[in-house]
Amino acid sequence: MAVLCVGVDIGNSTTEASAATVSDDGGVDYLGSALTPTTGVKGTVGNVDGVVAAVTNSLAGAGVALADLDVILLNEATPVISGLAMETITETIITESTMIGHDPRTPGGRGLGIGVVVAFGDLGQVDAGTAVIVAVPAGVDFDAAAAAMNAARTRGVAVEGAILCHDDAVLVVNRLEVKIPVVDEVSRIDAIPVGMRAAVEVAAPGQSIRTLSNAYGLATIFELDAAETKLVAPVARALTGNRSAVVIRTPSGDVGDRVIPAGSLVLTGERRRATVDVSGGAADIMAAVERVGPLTDVTGEAGTNTGGMISGVRQSMADLCGHDLGDVRIGDLLGVDTFVPQEVRGGLAGEVALENAVALAAMVRTRESGMQAVADAVRERLRAVGATHVDVVVGGVEAEMAVLGALTTPGTDRPLVVLDLGGGSTDAALLTAGDAVGTVHLAGAGDLVTKLIDAELGTQNLELAEEIKRHPLAKAESFFHVRLENGTVQFFEKPLPPPSFGRVLTLGEHAMSPIPTRHSLDRIRTVRRSAKDRVFVVNALRALARVAPDGDLRRIGFVVLLGGCALDFEIPQMIADAVAPHGIVCGTGNVRGTEGPRNAVATGLVASFARRHAS
Ligand code: ADP
Ligand code: MG
Repeated sequence: MAVLCVGVDIGNSTTEASAATVSDDGGVDYLGSALTPTTGVKGTVGNVDGVVAAVTNSLAGAGVALADLDVILLNEATPVISGLAMETITETIITESTMIGHDPRTPGGRGLGIGVVVAFGDLGQVDAGTAVIVAVPAGVDFDAAAAAMNAARTRGVAVEGAILCHDDAVLVVNRLEVKIPVVDEVSRIDAIPVGMRAAVEVAAPGQSIRTLSNAYGLATIFELDAAETKLVAPVARALTGNRSAVVIRTPSGDVGDRVIPAGSLVLTGERRRATVDVSGGAADIMAAVERVGPLTDVTGEAGTNTGGMISGVRQSMADLCGHDLGDVRIGDLLGVDTFVPQEVRGGLAGEVALENAVALAAMVRTRESGMQAVADAVRERLRAVGATHVDVVVGGVEAEMAVLGALTTPGTDRPLVVLDLGGGSTDAALLTAGDAVGTVHLAGAGDLVTKLIDAELGTQNLELAEEIKRHPLAKAESFFHVRLENGTVQFFEKPLPPPSFGRVLTLGEHAMSPIPTRHSLDRIRTVRRSAKDRVFVVNALRALARVAPDGDLRRIGFVVLLGGCALDFEIPQMIADAVAPHGIVCGTGNVRGTEGPRNAVATGLVASFARRHAS
């Protein structure tokens, strides 16, 4: 008798279902499929809601009654989930006597002005012939400020530049007889040291400053020796790309690019152990992971940021799954170099510097998978809603099922590697000609890419970062056209909504949304692509090296990309480019010739059930 079954794959992010009838001779007739967001943590009873929704939808889509359902096939969810942490490893500090850099939105005038800092109230007492930079505090309006500067200039004082508290640089410059560079929005005017040499630089619109962002430029202006130049190099770096800046030399100016003692990781492998300093960056960490691998656990040095990071990941995993802390083991670690905009400590106007940081994604193995409990709960719930005789079977290791599903992609053959690009992990499985399957689960996937984009652009909005990750960019150049990131132009009949004008937009399938940041299109694109590269290209190569026969990539014939991130508009291409030199055919899977990179595990579950059913 034919059996009506639904294969269900519970992922970290998505629960997928494939409904099919299986005849006695093992023939499979696929009826429909569905996907819903996973509810609860993968492998826990919180999954039931998502499973029931996916099953019901897949049957409804096929026009089959729930009462006819015979079997639910659940994957033996690998008891691995992923955690993320990020830690800055450098810090730019400006102590009280110092040099500052600043980038307001609308500076006034242009050029470079060099002089001694004078408080606005003292401008009248300055001797003729002195070059000055005027610091104008809050409470002085732009008319009065401009009038006093014009008067000083008439007396022969060389007013070379100005620093304002309010946002009115343009208004002041418009009233000056001789135009000078003016920087505004410096909130702590009172903290500016009077009597010290300073330089103000403003570039033309669309340009960035040249002198103050150049270490030797600073050395020239402030007469610095080599040792001092080394000290101010971080200042120059922090000002790179700004349209304006002010730098003040103070007696014992001390701007440091301090490396925070980030602490070390202790990596324990099956045969070796290694200790690696996190401030060395991702390359050092990943080299140690390779040297020690396969990992059995990772700990962080107690009392350091790294120690805090690792125990945080461990603790949150223990809490989520209800396991003891001692039962949580880290089976893989991906370190990624990143940078995060952070306010400079001791700055005068909320200056921001890009600090180096390391993001760590960890793959956590817990003691056991709770799938049997999930299966029992699913059976109870489905029986209660009308599937009166349904059975729920847990079977089939996820990766092996994914391989079976991937093989239904037209044009594939063994040996074959599937790369499942999910939300939390990148999973790979190799199917050799002889039916043997080797698998790896690597930390870091789509969610890490989203986090990196969020951190590096400082958006502090994961939904926006997800938008940026998934869609190409465009710039609204007029009310009726946008220029796409590939340089082509798209025209519209109706005017674009006013909020998008002049903005960088994401080009979704249905809508264009403006991105509320000051970053340029190029910058956003670079961050987006490099985040994908640092996570997926790195992980694809790591995964292939681990599953390849004898670690030799040339012995892999076909790579099939699966999972949500295989739907990405550029990730599959980036991976294909990276593996092409090894003679690998790499493409996005098309499960059953219809499902694209989705539904492979659910399909594999049905296929493997059909084999067993026939025999
Ligand atoms: P899991 O198997 O862990 O449940 P999925 O296979 O559902 O995960 O993949 C989830 C990831 O796929 C997320 O990072 C999500 O951002 C990404 N994703 C889903 N749909 C798309 C899409 N259309 N384009 C790009 N990325 C996508
Ligand atoms: Mg998955």
